[in-house]
Amino acid sequence: MSPSQFSDITARALAQRLGQNSGGYQGERMDIWNILAQIGQAASRHEWIPLPLNTPPDAFLPAYCRLNPGATRNIYLSAGIHGDEPAGPHALLRLMVENQWRPEFNYWLVPCLNPDGFERNTRENENGVDLNRDYSAQTTPRVRSHVRWLEQQPAFDLALLLHEDWESNGFYLYELNPDVQPSLAEAMIDGAAQTCPIDHAPQIDGRDAERGTIRFVGVIPERPEWPEALWLIHNRSRHSYTLEAPSDFLLEVRVSALAKAVRAGLDQFALRVE
Ligand SMILES: [Zn+2]
Repeated sequence: MSPSQFSDITARALAQRLGQNSGGYQGERMDIWNILAQIGQAASRHEWIPLPLNTPPDAFLPAYCRLNPGATRNIYLSAGIHGDEPAGPHALLRLMVENQWRPEFNYWLVPCLNPDGFERNTRENENGVDLNRDYSAQTTPRVRSHVRWLEQQPAFDLALLLHEDWESNGFYLYELNPDVQPSLAEAMIDGAAQTCPIDHAPQIDGRDAERGTIRFVGVIPERPEWPEALWLIHNRSRHSYTLEAPSDFLLEVRVSALAKAVRAGLDQFALRVE
């Protein structure tokens, strides 16, 4: 078999749904503390500043900041708020190890907000609360401490939130862009599409979609239970994307899709802020 035939077969295999998610995420598990330790090692190797969240019931959750000389734009990245979505923390680990961050930005990174959920393979935290619906009421110590942490940081020009969807047929994203800034959605979808199918359904998660993009541009609809993205829009970042990798595909496909989408989004953002 020639190398190109092999890579064709590999590519087709990677692009297949596994059909294993029945009633919830049934795929690969991960040791979140091991992933966080590896992210910490990469952070210290590449001179990121530790900026941990002081967050009960654990004493701290890791977070990091990287300030580049002359950089004027601030980027925020987070993952791991849902404990059945391992690809997000994995993708941030990959980006940290690769260490190819564009020098024209400063970065703030929160690699995992729900380690207790990962220990149980549950979307929710240890008390059955979906942390990503708690940013208006702020009933959980975890979200309260995250909000306090965010309030101590400067405003972000761009926020990228890494997630997975166990029901999805392909990669998609939510764009929250109230000030109608130039969209990064297409670039990020193109980035993800290098290794992952895109969900082309006209409706995703009950919302109108086009080429894997659910757009909230100009007007952001209010909802009673705020996800992290909505708190950010109201308080810290007027431009955010929630990236959703399809978790019924191999972990490598999802990790690669998220990492490539982040990189493509940052490349496109750099073009538009010059
Ligand atoms: Zn999620």
